[in-house]
Amino acid sequence: SAFQRFDLPPFLIKSLQDQNIEKPMEIQERLIPAIINGRDVIGQSHTGSGKTLAFLLPILTKIRPDHKYIQAVITAPTRELAGQIYNELQKLLKNVSDSNIKAIRLTGGTDRQRTMEKLQKTPHIIVATPGRLNDMTKNQAIDVHRTEMFVVDEADQMLDMGFIEEIDPAASLMPDNLQMMVFSATIPEQLQPFLRKYMKNPRHVHV
Ligand code: AMP
Repeated sequence: SAFQRFDLPPFLIKSLQDQNIEKPMEIQERLIPAIINGRDVIGQSHTGSGKTLAFLLPILTKIRPDHKYIQAVITAPTRELAGQIYNELQKLLKNVSDSNIKAIRLTGGTDRQRTMEKLQKTPHIIVATPGRLNDMTKNQAIDVHRTEMFVVDEADQMLDMGFIEEIDPAASLMPDNLQMMVFSATIPEQLQPFLRKYMKNPRHVHV
């Protein structure tokens, strides 16, 4: 498929084939190489643009399964959105039995005891809502000190809901050389302090 030119691992090519996803959408075309190369990115786009795969494919390409720590954190403003991202992630991981990448979902309303049990086997990827992420990092239930990639999805909604303040403490625990990926339909002025604080020379793509 046309995704082959991005140098994605075979399990991802297979998962895309299984879903009949053959041709990259514009945001994927423009962001996948940048993210694989380690660039910070701002994806200005709406739901339906293909933004979820634009960050999931490069993240899964870069995860090293033998490194047992939380390498990527993805945060979205609502349980529903976090759930959709998690489901897309699971579909991509269907063919990964050989490399064994683990992801878990941390959202409000999930059983705390079961979540803590799942965290015993450190996941490589966490998909979280901001409140739960903040809560779990504060209580040291998850360790993000070595996290390499951080996605903030629907950043304008995050701002409206007062969630930037919940994300900031978690982001500040992550390493200085963190790769930040921010997705948002609009980039309001009030978002700028957060972007300036955490982003280095981002590639800004507007589709
Ligand atoms: P999103 O904008 O991430 O919410 O994605 C919208 C929908 O488009 C999802 O259901 C994806 O599975 C689908 N999708 C993403 N990329 C492609 C693609 N390259 N070709 C066809 N469908 C896609």
